[in-house]
Amino acid sequence: MAQYQFNSIGYIKSPYKQKFAIPRQPGLIAEACGSIELEADYADEGIVRGIEAFSHLWLVFVFHETADKGWSPLVRPPRLGGNTRKGVFATRATFRPNPIGLSVVKLDGVTRKNGKLQILISGLDLLDGTPILDIKPYLPYSDALPAANGGFADAAPETMMTVSMSENAEQFCQQQKHYPHLRTFIEKVLKQDPRPPYKKQRADIQHYGMTLYEFNIKWTVDGEHNHVTEIMQLP
Ligand code: SAM
Repeated sequence: MAQYQFNSIGYIKSPYKQKFAIPRQPGLIAEACGSIELEADYADEGIVRGIEAFSHLWLVFVFHETADKGWSPLVRPPRLGGNTRKGVFATRATFRPNPIGLSVVKLDGVTRKNGKLQILISGLDLLDGTPILDIKPYLPYSDALPAANGGFADAAPETMMTVSMSENAEQFCQQQKHYPHLRTFIEKVLKQDPRPPYKKQRADIQHYGMTLYEFNIKWTVDGEHNHVTEIMQLP
């Protein structure tokens, strides 16, 4: 078996601080804004010359959070309710022989901050701190295949979930001048119902919490309704 060694060329800064609540694919929540912070060895401006002519990028990355958890040939896609098994190569599961992921994200710009070269991106489905192995421009003429068959995931997941917020939570969102889309972002994250399939069966009122950007968000789920009770700024 051939072996190859790769270096990470950079790391993701993402609003998603834990796996729970990250969408299952990129592009589903446009308000998820982050960046790729390039490693010093790759932080020469020349390395991104011409990149801003492209609207989207492919990111090749490591599923670093689960990389040491192994893999199995059959997986249970959450999309199918968590009970049906498919071959790992017929899924986008994180537990793979080589824990490598592939996501297309929107390119929002290139900047230098605190001496670091950053590529600004949005619509991501990546955990904060994800190591990036490679970046390639998205080529619509070749990469966009509208007639392609999407198998058991032929369209974006449908959701019946609704979202409301307490008055305090609404006010908190309105006050965040650096995050003008915070309310929409939280709403979209909750609408996709991030709970694992087995929790979706439960009839009782459930309490959850998550961190997005530097905010801790608490909410309850009652049937198909999410209610955000509290949002707090983390220290
Ligand atoms: N678009 C990618 C692909 O197809 O290879 C990722 C798809 S995978 C189903 C998306 C999930 O990966 C997210 O919902 C999140 O739970 C998980 N994820 C994102 N970044 C990760 C990381 N660095 N380590 C482990 N899991 C991660």
